[in-house]
Amino acid sequence: RVKAIHAKIKNSRLDAIHKFTTKLAKDNALIVVGDVKSRSFTSKKTNLAKSTYDAGWFELKRQLEYKCKYAGCQLEIVNESYTTQTCSHCLKISDSSPKGRAGLGIRGWRCAECGTWHDRDINAAKNILAVGLDRLAEGIPSL
Ligand SMILES: [Zn+2]
Repeated sequence: RVKAIHAKIKNSRLDAIHKFTTKLAKDNALIVVGDVKSRSFTSKKTNLAKSTYDAGWFELKRQLEYKCKYAGCQLEIVNESYTTQTCSHCLKISDSSPKGRAGLGIRGWRCAECGTWHDRDINAAKNILAVGLDRLAEGIPSL
């Protein structure tokens, strides 16, 4: 019974990820994904490692890779180092930004350098997009 329930949870989660990635690949010309630091998080057998897996990140990325290829959407996977700590407005790493494990609980913060208020995830997403766009710009030969 428990096995069946777990299988059902797994299937409905997989289904949700499929719907999400299909829509993403179909609706966008470019998707930039941060390379989740799986090694540092998953090697220590912590609850954090489990939640990283539970979030379905690896499956999500795997699906995006083949669905983007099929839909003609460009997928860039970039190094996401410092994207949580860096202010997407002034590009500085202020004393007030979330850092390390201690900073994981911080959902919002104000940049001590420029005073901009950030939602943690939106700020990181803006920085990840900027890294992806920078990479693309560098790849375009100048005239
Ligand atoms: Zn700032």
